[in-house]
Amino acid sequence: MTDQLYLVDDARRRFEATVERTLDDRVVLDRTAFYPTGGGQPHDTGVLTVAPADDRDTDGDLPDAAADGSDGTDAGRRWRVVDVAKSDTIYHTLEPVADDGTAAEGDAALPAPGTAVVGEVDWDRRHAHARYHTAQHLLSALLLTEFDALTTGNQLYADHAHLDAAYDRFDADDLARIESGLNDLVDDARPVTSYTMDRAAAEATLDTDRTRIDLLPESITELRIVEVGGADAEEPYDRTACAGTHVSNTAEIGEVVVTGRETKGSDEERVNFVLANHATDGDATID
Ligand SMILES: [Zn+2]
Repeated sequence: MTDQLYLVDDARRRFEATVERTLDDRVVLDRTAFYPTGGGQPHDTGVLTVAPADDRDTDGDLPDAAADGSDGTDAGRRWRVVDVAKSDTIYHTLEPVADDGTAAEGDAALPAPGTAVVGEVDWDRRHAHARYHTAQHLLSALLLTEFDALTTGNQLYADHAHLDAAYDRFDADDLARIESGLNDLVDDARPVTSYTMDRAAAEATLDTDRTRIDLLPESITELRIVEVGGADAEEPYDRTACAGTHVSNTAEIGEVVVTGRETKGSDEERVNFVLANHATDGDATID
C-alpha cells in the first residue's frame, strides 16, 4: 500500500515520491499526499512533475531505477492528476500537460517505474474539502449531543455538503439551533488534532457511537482518531475514527450556513449546509 502522507500531515501540499507502477493512464507511487475519494470526501487534484536531476541523486548520477532507459531529459515533464482512487493501493489518473499548461496531444506516455516525481496538491480544492469535512465533524457531534441523532451518511464537495442523520424531523427552530451551535464551535477556535490508535484499544476505551469504529472494515486494525477540542481541556468535543483531511482549528472553517433539510425516509433526515463564502445570498433559507 502506498504510504498515505495525508494521514500524518493533512496540511502537506507538496511531496517527493517514486513511481512504482503504471497501468493505462494511472500510476502508483511509493507515497502520496493526494487524498483518494472516500469517506464522503472527493479526491484531490494537482500536478505531478518529473523531478529535476539534482533533486534525484546527490552525486549527480541518473537515478538507478530509471527503467525506461531515459537519460534524464524528462525532468520537468508534467501531468495533471485528475482522479485519485484507493482500492488495494492508491491509483492516480494522469493527463499529460504541455509546456503552456494546456492538455498535451499525442504524448500520453506516463512516467516510467523508478522515476522520481514531485506532487503538488491543488490547495484551494483540498482546503475547501478540509473545511467542509471539519464542519461535518462538528455537525455530527452536535446532532448526537443535542438531538441524540446518529450520523448515517455524509457527502461533501468544494462548495456544499450534506449529512444524513437518524432523526424523525428537524423543524425550523431545530435548524436555527443547529446553525448557531455550529457557529459557536467555529467562534471557539477549537483545535483539531489526530493520532493513530490500535483498534482493539479504541474499541475497549472509546465511545463507539461517536468514533463509529463499527462502520470500519474488520481488516483495519490501526485507526486514525480525529479530535475536536472540548470546552475544557478534559474531554474532546468530538472524537471520531476518520481518514479524511481536516483543518487544524475550527476557526478555519468560517461561518456555516444551514441551507435546509429534506426527508430521507420516515426516520432519516438530510441537513444541507454551505460555508458562508459559498452561500448564494446573504440569508439562509431554512424551510
Ligand atoms: Zn474526518
